[in-house]
Amino acid sequence: MSTANEYIESVLDGLRVRNPGELEFHEAVTGVLDSLAPVLEQHPVYRDAAILERVVEPERVVHFRVPWVDDEGKHHVNRGFRVQFNSALGPYKGGLRFHPTVSASIIKFLGFEQIFKNALTGQQIGGGKGGSDFDPHGKSDNEIMRFCQSFMTGLYPFIGSKRDIPAGDIGVGGREIGYMFGQYKRLVGSFESGVLTGKGLGWGGSLIRTEATGYGLVAFTREMLQTRGEDFEGQTVSVSGSGNVAIYSIEKLLSLGAKPVSFSDSSGWVYDSEGVDLDLLKEIKEVRRGRVSDYVKERPSAELHTDSSIWNVPVDVALPCATQHELNGEHARTLIKNGVKAVAEGANMPTDAEGVEVFEASDVLYGPGKAANAGGVAVSALEMQQNSARQSWSREDVADRLDKIMEDIHTQCVEASQKYVGRPDDYVTGSNAAGFVRVAEAMISQGAV
Ligand code: NDP
Repeated sequence: MSTANEYIESVLDGLRVRNPGELEFHEAVTGVLDSLAPVLEQHPVYRDAAILERVVEPERVVHFRVPWVDDEGKHHVNRGFRVQFNSALGPYKGGLRFHPTVSASIIKFLGFEQIFKNALTGQQIGGGKGGSDFDPHGKSDNEIMRFCQSFMTGLYPFIGSKRDIPAGDIGVGGREIGYMFGQYKRLVGSFESGVLTGKGLGWGGSLIRTEATGYGLVAFTREMLQTRGEDFEGQTVSVSGSGNVAIYSIEKLLSLGAKPVSFSDSSGWVYDSEGVDLDLLKEIKEVRRGRVSDYVKERPSAELHTDSSIWNVPVDVALPCATQHELNGEHARTLIKNGVKAVAEGANMPTDAEGVEVFEASDVLYGPGKAANAGGVAVSALEMQQNSARQSWSREDVADRLDKIMEDIHTQCVEASQKYVGRPDDYVTGSNAAGFVRVAEAMISQGAV
């Protein structure tokens, strides 16, 4: 019989042949499978039951046309996707992304990661992801509404509270979820609050869902720092992005006494020597929907950069919260040279494969996204629980549950790392192994489906 590594390589070869050109998907699967050799050696039954071959193949992929008409009456057509990847632990659950870079490969990479992230939360949720190559930037509110209605018209036959429950991601926030929920309700003729999460607070949403990914990321990083006897008090932190995850990471960092000094969007990045003014950032991004350059105009201590990397700033902790592949090997080496102690991913796959290798070969604490940014989906699952019980839990209650879930995820990572590689701080292997084992056990119990 071949070794575990040879078996993994053969599964990856098959994946590349069956999914040609889907580089992000290949990278995500390679990142997970490459760390699973010790797991397969300790559980030969996973190989006998072809768990790897099954887990890399989505249960269903839906690809649909999204036609819409702009304010000038011009017709446009975008592509809609939903990948229902794995339902071993519960109904498919994962966000919708609206961004011009969305493709089958991006959605499959995100859906694959989501399986193990959701497993780590300990909730009964399977993995899925969806979205469109629609670009929301510069669109009017009416154009966003018409697009969301058309998108939901294509998606609605495939979702439901026991089947598949989408949420937000890049380009999809409370406004878009509202328009999609309205269209779903109209199409099916009933108010099914459990079909989407990230809803408004007045109609089935959960307190803390907006803040959950950022708050959870900082809680996970706090747990990592604690293993080295450190906390956030007085630490300088670089955050990238200026969307949902970045803003609420900054909010939590400030509450713990840290000093966040940067943020970014696709037009550039800002360094604020006095620490980020959160009220101003929220006003610009959440109210005015402006650019990061607007912040610099109103804040003398801030500088705008467009031709260098945000990761050149010397900091104690780095939290990439924008998008995939925003931090490469060279950035990782610069961060390490400048003395970074911990890097944790708010975004999905923000660190490229070389960057991950660089962090893994160093003694920097490196928290991969599937563990570090699981707070958002965890609170989505709490929103589903509140919807099915027709309850609304208090802010403190949801915040405490989120904090406890992030602590549990951290513990699972440390224990699995210890079990499979003999040390506690390999969070890549720890998160992949802990999530994978939970899914694999459920798949075996449910037979060859
Ligand atoms: P938002 O749309 O709210 O914000 C995204 C931010 O990233 C914006 O500031 C955006 O700038 C910036 N950005 C996007 N693409 C690029 C790019 N190519 N270069 C530079 N900046 C870019 O999204 P979220 O905050 O929700 O998501 C951010 C990341 O976190 C994503 O990877 C997402 O998958 C991940 N995530 C989100 C969760 C959630 O609950 N929302 C849960 C778990 C993970 P601009 O406006 O200029 O495009």
